[in-house]
Amino acid sequence: MARYNISIHKINHIFISHLHGDHYLGLTGLIFSMHLQRRESDLHLYSFKGLDEILTTQLKHSRSVLNYKIIFHPMTEGRREIILEDDVLTVETIPLEHKISTSGFLFREKSRALKFDKTKLKKEISLQEILQLKRGEDVLDMQGHIRYRSSDYTLSPSPPLSYAYCSDTRPLDHLAEQINGADLLYHEATFMEEEKSKAEETRHSTAADAATIAMKCNVKKLLIGHFSARYKDLTPVLEEAQKIFRNTSLAIEGESFDL
Ligand SMILES: [Zn+2]
Ligand SMILES: [Zn+2]
Repeated sequence: MARYNISIHKINHIFISHLHGDHYLGLTGLIFSMHLQRRESDLHLYSFKGLDEILTTQLKHSRSVLNYKIIFHPMTEGRREIILEDDVLTVETIPLEHKISTSGFLFREKSRALKFDKTKLKKEISLQEILQLKRGEDVLDMQGHIRYRSSDYTLSPSPPLSYAYCSDTRPLDHLAEQINGADLLYHEATFMEEEKSKAEETRHSTAADAATIAMKCNVKKLLIGHFSARYKDLTPVLEEAQKIFRNTSLAIEGESFDL
């Protein structure tokens, strides 16, 4: 994050899929950096039980008292639940199957408000009236006649986007029920098909598995990641997935994608 100039103060919610070290060991460092940079606002953590105990132990033995509050939200295993909802989006858990309790996350934007058509802006339209038109309500005059019709003055907003994050897991066909049509799916692809038995044993997926899931879920784009260190060159991993699902990219740090 430092390398890409992303301020750590922008982060208010952190979602931890499971308690294997590669998914949360950096968290304590981040929490202390936030403290040293004088964070004051609450930080929300979502995880299975255990993370609260781990963090409490670390804070206790370093005799640290943070200058902000951590609010821990324990998740329920094997059940879909909405763990966060605000004006803009909902975050829902995606039950996964791995060696320990694991959950993915589905981020779903809410429908956006109508946009005021700036080309129709006139001095006599008040801010109050603009807000009214954006809510889809017509503006009436004293006699109750329509003065401004909402549909004449507003543009429809861009459709809400959704993003499903699934790591780590064995391939699960039933994901299609929950994430059908997602704009973006991140799915782990730890191995290639040649290591299928290793994937099954460790409850991970192959690149072909991830691509098959993307196809069954009718997602628009697939990002694969969580590659085994054995693959120095990721081109064959990407090709294995693209043979099944064309719109696949590698989740490489620092890359950004337009949806
Ligand atoms: Zn894991
Ligand atoms: Zn992992």
